[in-house]
Amino acid sequence: MAFTILRGGRVLDIAAGTAELADILIEDDTIRDIGPSGLAAPEGAALISAERKLIHPGLVNAHTHAHGNLAKGMGDRWTLELLLTAAPWITGNRSPDDIQLTAQLGAVEMVLKGCTACYDLFFEWPLPTRDGMARVASAYSEVGMRAVIAPMIADRSFFEAIPGLNDALPDPLRERVKALRLAPGETTLAAVRAGFQGWSGDRDRVRLALAPTIPHHCSDDFIRGCATLARDFDVGLHSHVAESKVQAIAGMRLYGKTLTAHLDELGVLGPHFTVAHSVWLDNDDMARLGDHGASIAHNPGSNMRLGAGLADARAMLDARVNLGIGTDGANCSDNQNMYEAMRLASFVSKVQGPEWRRWMTTREVALAATQGSARALGFGDRIGRIARGYQADLVMLDLDHPNWLPFNDPVNQLVHCEDGNAVHSVMIAGHMVVENRRVLTVDMDRLRDRVAAARDRLAAANADNRRLYQALEPVVGSYCPGLARTPYHVHRYGARPE
Ligand SMILES: [Zn+2]
Repeated sequence: MAFTILRGGRVLDIAAGTAELADILIEDDTIRDIGPSGLAAPEGAALISAERKLIHPGLVNAHTHAHGNLAKGMGDRWTLELLLTAAPWITGNRSPDDIQLTAQLGAVEMVLKGCTACYDLFFEWPLPTRDGMARVASAYSEVGMRAVIAPMIADRSFFEAIPGLNDALPDPLRERVKALRLAPGETTLAAVRAGFQGWSGDRDRVRLALAPTIPHHCSDDFIRGCATLARDFDVGLHSHVAESKVQAIAGMRLYGKTLTAHLDELGVLGPHFTVAHSVWLDNDDMARLGDHGASIAHNPGSNMRLGAGLADARAMLDARVNLGIGTDGANCSDNQNMYEAMRLASFVSKVQGPEWRRWMTTREVALAATQGSARALGFGDRIGRIARGYQADLVMLDLDHPNWLPFNDPVNQLVHCEDGNAVHSVMIAGHMVVENRRVLTVDMDRLRDRVAAARDRLAAANADNRRLYQALEPVVGSYCPGLARTPYHVHRYGARPE
């Protein structure tokens, strides 16, 4: 047993809106006690001074993609559909080392920016493998970050999934995108099952989940197969639903109902199900998710960057959906900064209408980025709060940083003023991972060199894929906005009928 005592910090209670001076006693990885200055500690307890620090629960990123980190900044004016078209170029030809490296790079960025756990939907071409899963898991373990890692899978390519798109391609391009076809569903599901069997990862730190990527990129049998796997291994499911208007329209064309209604009919919704984005959900969809106790991972930065729209988090909360907040992948956000994600979540809520009483409060945003995301990860009883019995996942912000001068209101300033620059130290499961603004667990010089080498090698290996993207861009970039001109009325507060 090892005891640590944090003395002299201001401990944030998001729900109460307070940050009183208090000491925190930690035994191994768990918070044992919180009390006024001078709290008793066992002899020999390690002392950490938290004077002039605000201690907040580690932020929890409810939605990211490890493979995106090596692709940050590679594009600008991308819709979701152009991003999916660019995937072979920006994330193709990855070696097992690249898979580990890109996850590690994201983990380092997250911990430096006050995030202690994430839900990572990582991608491995052409199939998930046990080695790939182990690589991603060890990337997080090495950094010392908590994660739920979910192989992202499908049995239809993007070009097969969007109604009419394949037919809209000129013959030579249609031939070329045939190479992007995915393995048969049974093959992919068998690969996941093989990877999950005998998983020896530390389930306290890194857990498994499964991500059927986008409902209409998956046949009904494939989605049912994913649900069976999730049941068999007691893991979560995570899918991008109604992220863009094109997707919402594709759902209507393919199923004659919304994508959420389709998932409901397949019987896969439940408390273990997390839906990412949900920009184009109507009231009935949100009620379905709320009734099933499902979660939504709200990614306001990505939604704006890809022109997907503004998700209505108030309507989600009204429908009793569990709300988490995410950054999405660095290939579409383009950072892993949960402070920015919180700030944008607040702003996106406030820009939707003049009814200010319906705007999300900073308190609701901060709770979503901690407790809400933690519940989506399946860690709701262990992280997301500073409380006895919870894991010691703690962030210390420097109250002498200009972000906190003057110190007026802890929750408003956490959401609206903090940008990650005041992060001084980060503890995860009782271990210091960041101290005095430096990551302790990773050699940053070596990481920099490996990332630079991977970038150069991947740029050369994906040169053909880049040319393919350039040929496809005008076609996809005209066809999909054309499809999105189809009238689609979302019945909910704040949404204007089209
Ligand atoms: Zn995503």
